[in-house]
Amino acid sequence: IFLCAAIYFFFIYLIIHQLLGIKVDITVAVGALFISIFAAFSFQPILKLLKRTTNKIFYKNYYETEIFLAQLTRIMAQKIVLSDMTATILELLIKTMCLTKGAFLIIEEKGKPDFFGFGYDKSEFNTKSFEEFIINHLKSKPIIFDELKENSIKKTCRDFDISIAIPIKVKNILVAILFLGPKMSGEIYNSQDINFLNIFASEAGIAIQNAKSYEQIRKFNISLEKKVEERTAELQKSQKNELAKAQDIAHLKDEFVFIASHELRTPVTAIKGFLSMVTESPEKLPDDVRENLSYMSAASDHLSQLINDLLEISRSDAGKMDISTHTADIVPIMKAIIMEVTPQATKDNIKINFVNPPPTLQAMVDDKKIKEVFMNLLSNAIKYNRKEGSVDVTLSGEKKEVIIEVKDNGYGIPKDQQERIFQKFFRASNERTGDVLGTGLGLFITRMLVEKMGGKIGFTSIENKGTSFKVNLLKGK
Ligand code: ADP
Repeated sequence: IFLCAAIYFFFIYLIIHQLLGIKVDITVAVGALFISIFAAFSFQPILKLLKRTTNKIFYKNYYETEIFLAQLTRIMAQKIVLSDMTATILELLIKTMCLTKGAFLIIEEKGKPDFFGFGYDKSEFNTKSFEEFIINHLKSKPIIFDELKENSIKKTCRDFDISIAIPIKVKNILVAILFLGPKMSGEIYNSQDINFLNIFASEAGIAIQNAKSYEQIRKFNISLEKKVEERTAELQKSQKNELAKAQDIAHLKDEFVFIASHELRTPVTAIKGFLSMVTESPEKLPDDVRENLSYMSAASDHLSQLINDLLEISRSDAGKMDISTHTADIVPIMKAIIMEVTPQATKDNIKINFVNPPPTLQAMVDDKKIKEVFMNLLSNAIKYNRKEGSVDVTLSGEKKEVIIEVKDNGYGIPKDQQERIFQKFFRASNERTGDVLGTGLGLFITRMLVEKMGGKIGFTSIENKGTSFKVNLLKGK
C-alpha cells in the first residue's frame, strides 16, 4: 500500500510540477500525499466492487476462494440428504462460477451410479460409452478439457459438453465425480478455479460418503418398516384366524356340553324315579340290598347335581343364561331353602339356626338363581360340617345392600387352598373331606350367579374351626 502510495505521489508530483507547471510547496505536497494514500487504500475495494459489477454483466466469475469454500463447507455440514446436498452445492457452483451446467455422479458399490445434475441429460450419463469413459479415464486424476490434446478423451468430453471432471475420493476410493460444463462467458477455467475445485473435491468426499450412508440407513429403515408392517399384518391375520378357530372350537365344546348334559338329565331323572319307587318301603328289602340301593341313590343324586351344574355353566358360557333381577323378599326364600336342606342336616344332627330373621328383606335378585345360591351355600355348610355341628344363617340390611351370611363350625378350608376355592372343578381337601361327594362346580356357579345379579361373595375360614360365606346383594327398592 505504501509502495503504491509512493508511486501515486510520484505521478501526482510529475503531473502538477512538470505538466501543469505549478510550484510544489508544502501544502500542495501534503495534499498530494493524502490523495496518494487514499487512492492506495481504496484501490482494492473499488476493484472488488468493479469486478462484482462486471461479473454480473459479462458473466465473469469473480469469487474469493476462501469465502466460497466456507460457503460450500457450511452446506456440506448442514445438508445430510444426498439429493438436497448435491443440488444446493451445484446451484452455488453454477451461480458463483457462472457455469452453464454441472452434475454429480455418485458411484455405488453395486449397481448403476446415481446422477444429480443441472443442464445435463441424465439418460446420456447412463450410456455404455459414458461408463467406459469413467472407468478408463476418470478413476485417478481430473480431466480439464482445455488442457487436453486432441484425443478420444477430448472427443468424449466434447460429446458430453464436459469442461472439467474431478474425481472425488475418500481414502483413495472413488465416491463421486463432479462434472462441470463450459462457463457462460466462454472463458476457460483458470488456475484459481482449478485449485479451488481440487480443494473442494478433497472436502466433499467425506460429506458425500456421510450422505450416502445416511441414505442407505434411511432406505434400510423404510424397508424395515415396510417389512415390520407386512409381518404385523400377517401376524394379525393369522391371529384372527386362530382366534376364529378357537372360538369355533369353544362354541362346539359349549354346544356339546350343553346337549350332553341336557340329554343325560332325562335318563338320570328316570333312574332316580325308579330308585325312589324301589326304596319307598325299605323294610321289605333285605339289609344288603337296602344298603346298596342307598349308595345308588346317593350316586344318582351326585350325578344329577353334576349334570345340573354343567348345564348351568354351559348355558352361561354360551351366553344363554338369562338373569333378570327384580326386587324380592329374600326372607321366605331362605326359609324355604332351610326347610329343604333340613333332612340332610338332621342325618348328622346338624342344627340350622336362622338367626333373628327380619320380617322382610328386599333385595335385587333373580328368584330362581338366588335359590340356587342359598342352596349351594347351605348344602356346603352341612356337607363340610362335623356331626352335631351347627349352621348359622343371618340376613341383614344396610343402606344400599343386603348381607347374607352362612356360617358353620365344620372342617374349614386349608389356608393354602383358599384362593382357588371359586375355580371350576376345584375341591379343597383335608383328611376329613375325602369322603364328601361333590363336583367342585358349586362355588364357581354361585359366584357367577351372585356377580350376574350385581353382588359379590367372599368368605373367611379356619381349618377345623369353620367357614363363613358372605354374600352382598343390591338392596331392593
Ligand atoms: P363341591 O362342594 O361340589 O366340591 P364347591 O364348588 O361347592 O364344590 O366347593 C368347592 C370346595 O370348597 C369344596 O370341595 C370344599 O372343599 C370347599 N368348601 C366349600 N364350602 C365349604 C364349607 N362351608 N366348609 C368347608 N369347605 C368348603
